[in-house]
Amino acid sequence: MIYLDNAATTKMDESLIEVYKSFSCDKFFNASAGYSVALKNAKQLEEAKQILLKKLNANSGDIIFTACATESNNLAIQGSVKNGNWEYIFSKGEHPSVYNIAKMLEEQGQKVYYINLQKNGEIDYNQLEKLINEKTRLVSTMFVSNETGAINDINRIVNIIKGKNKRTIIHVDGVQGFCKIPISLSKTQIDLFSISAHKFHGPKGVGALYVRNKALLKPLLYGGGQEFNLRSGTENLAGIMAMVRECERIDILKNLENVRKLREQFLSNIDLNMVNYISTESPYIISLNFPGVNGETLMRALEDKVIIGTGSACSSKKAGNRILEAMGFTKEYAKQSVRVSFNAYQTESEIVEAAKIIMQVYKDLYERLK
Ligand code: PLP
Repeated sequence: MIYLDNAATTKMDESLIEVYKSFSCDKFFNASAGYSVALKNAKQLEEAKQILLKKLNANSGDIIFTACATESNNLAIQGSVKNGNWEYIFSKGEHPSVYNIAKMLEEQGQKVYYINLQKNGEIDYNQLEKLINEKTRLVSTMFVSNETGAINDINRIVNIIKGKNKRTIIHVDGVQGFCKIPISLSKTQIDLFSISAHKFHGPKGVGALYVRNKALLKPLLYGGGQEFNLRSGTENLAGIMAMVRECERIDILKNLENVRKLREQFLSNIDLNMVNYISTESPYIISLNFPGVNGETLMRALEDKVIIGTGSACSSKKAGNRILEAMGFTKEYAKQSVRVSFNAYQTESEIVEAAKIIMQVYKDLYERLK
C-alpha cells in the first residue's frame, strides 16, 4: 500500500518511541513539581520551546504547548475575542478548526467577515485590505492550504493588515507549512501561529501555539496555571519531546527539493489530457480532478493499493467542496476531486508506481461509468 494522504497525518518516525518511552517511564515527573528531577523536566520543556522558536526563526515571543492544532486555533481565536464592538476576519479557505470558530462567533452575534479565494487558492489580498479598519480585532488566514497546497503570501498579508491597523491581531494556521515551507517570524509580524506534530512525523496529541504577546490572549482552560496561565493541564512532556526531536531533525530545504521531484515524477505519470490539477506553490499537496468519476469512488477503488484523500480528513464527508467552490470551481468539479499529499521520505519509484495505478484505476472506472 502506498500512502499519499500525508496532509491528513504522517507516520510517526519509529525512533521517537525511545524518546517517548524515556519521558514516560523514566523521566516521567510532573514538570510543575518542585523537586530536582521535576525541575530538570521543566528545563527540558523550556529547551523544547526554544527549539520550536528557532525552527520558526522567531527572535521574540513564546510557545504554548497544546494537544493539537485544533486546540491551538481555538486558543488563538477564542482567546483573542474581546468584549465590545469588534470585527473578525477569516478566509474562506480555512480548515474546519478555524472556519467553525468563525461560524460560532457569528452565531454569538460578533461581526465576522470572510475573505474570498482567488482561482489559485490564495486569499483575495485586495478584499482583505478593504476590510481592515480600526475595529478589526483579529484576522486569521492559513499559511498553506490543506486542500490545495496554495501558499498565502504571509508577508503581504502582514504588511496589508499592520499598514492599516497596527493593533489587529494576526493568526496564521501554520499546520501544513511548519517544517515544510520556510517561515521567519522575526521578519513577519505574525502574532499567533499554530502547529501540529502529527503533520511532520511527530506523535498525535501534541501541538503548539506561537504567541508574540501573551498579554493579548485569554485562556480557554483554567486550572493549575501551566503555560503562562494560558493553558492549564500537566504538559505532555513525552509527546512534546518527541515532537521537537523530529522538528530538529527536519531539513526543510532538502525535503522541499525532494518533494518537488516527487511531485514532478507524479504529474509526469498522470495523463494531463484527461486529468486536471490545480497548480499551487506547495509541492506537498496536489488537488486533482478526475472528470466523470466521483472522488470518493476513486478513493475507495484505489484503497488497497494507494491511499489518497478527498480533502480535509476532519470534513471528508463534505469532500472539500467548500474550498474548491470558494475558488470558483463548480460543485461537480469539486465532487470529482481528490487530494494527493506526499512526505519527504518517499521514493520516486513508489510515487511513479502510485501515479500509474491511479491512472489505471481511473480509466477503468471512467469506462465503466460512462
Ligand atoms: N489546520 C490545518 C490546516 C490542518 O490541515 C489540520 C489537520 O488536518 C488542522 C488544522 C488540525 O490539526 P490537528 O489534527 O492537530 O487538530
